[in-house]
Amino acid sequence: MKLLEYQGKEIFAKYGVPVPQGRVAFTPDEAAEIAAEIGKTVVVKAQVHAGGRGKAGGIKLAKTPDEAREMASQIIGMEIKGLRVERVLVEEAADIKEEYYLGITTDRAARRNIVMVSKEGGIEIEIVAEENPAAIAKLHLDPAIGLQDFQIRQLGFESNLPPVALKGLGTFLKALYKVYLDYDCSLAEINPLVLTGDGRLIAADSKIVLDDNALFRHPDLAAFQEEQEDDPIEAEAHKRGLTYVRLDGDIGIIGNGAGLVMTTLDVVKREGGSPANFLDIGGGAKADVVTKAIDTVLLDKNVKGIFFNIFGGITRGDEVAKGMLEAIATMDIKVPIVVRLTGTRAAEGLKLLEGSTLVGAATMQEGAQKIVALVNGA
Ligand code: GDP
Ligand code: MN
Repeated sequence: MKLLEYQGKEIFAKYGVPVPQGRVAFTPDEAAEIAAEIGKTVVVKAQVHAGGRGKAGGIKLAKTPDEAREMASQIIGMEIKGLRVERVLVEEAADIKEEYYLGITTDRAARRNIVMVSKEGGIEIEIVAEENPAAIAKLHLDPAIGLQDFQIRQLGFESNLPPVALKGLGTFLKALYKVYLDYDCSLAEINPLVLTGDGRLIAADSKIVLDDNALFRHPDLAAFQEEQEDDPIEAEAHKRGLTYVRLDGDIGIIGNGAGLVMTTLDVVKREGGSPANFLDIGGGAKADVVTKAIDTVLLDKNVKGIFFNIFGGITRGDEVAKGMLEAIATMDIKVPIVVRLTGTRAAEGLKLLEGSTLVGAATMQEGAQKIVALVNGA
């Protein structure tokens, strides 16, 4: 789960990281109100899960509350990288002298967390890494020892930060690392970390990505979680308790088991098809689960056919077939459905499907070929 800038800044503030004074606004009037409260030049920032907002016109300065209202009305409703802006952060504008980068992420190859500091902030770190990799000071952390003062000095030295910035660096890095650990992050980033004209450091942006598998440990983030679903179908699927990921193709994929579903995506692709989603219904395939799964896949109007891939182990093929038939009997389905059954009592299951609108298949490849042919109209 990704947090929006203002949500990340709320966490930073709790951990003593200096952030500009401000709040989120959903309407231009609210933006004007906040600007009036702050009583200084503010910056109005689009809150979407995308970087490069400045370049896209999603970050604007406003000297007065009226200007803030005007900027907010321009920004709310605009699209940045395909995402609609629904809210803006209105905060005290920073007097930017220099922009730096701080980030912590998990380096899977090294099996360690890595801290990165760069003098080249304000632009995406991926670009710095490509064009000027030497400008990023990096350090792997030993989880048992954490982040030590000498390491902070080393990072500051290697990144060539000016002495005035070095003073505050430790506070930021320690707090960022604490946030990273406490919230089970996979990324915690401040870009830019701003050095102001009067020599203070403030976090002008935040980017936090949390490990979804650890979300249950953070009930305080539940509210953010509900808000963060960008895709309405994914949001609905998760409400229904399904493991669903939307993709951009036209063949709906349903299977039992994450590994099987991933393989199904690959095989469909190899046969020339384009998967519309990932949906794992887990063990069993009772009629109600099948109904829910098909209904969810069909929420995506791009779907022109469905491939149901069931590997029967404990799940019996004839039970699956019965569930499928029961499900489609109650639904108005206009797209072809191919069902691949294998494993326990698969032959009996396929027999049950004969004469129905469901197309049976004995192997995954055969099923993939059939659905691709049906969808592509061959
Ligand atoms: P991102 O590009 O989407 O990550 O958005 P950022 O929050 O990092 O802002 C992008 C750029 O906008 C920053 O690097 C700054 O140059 C500029 N910016 C952001 N906040 C302020 C501000 O308060 N004052 C000024 N003058 N510029 C800002
Ligand atoms: Mn940024």
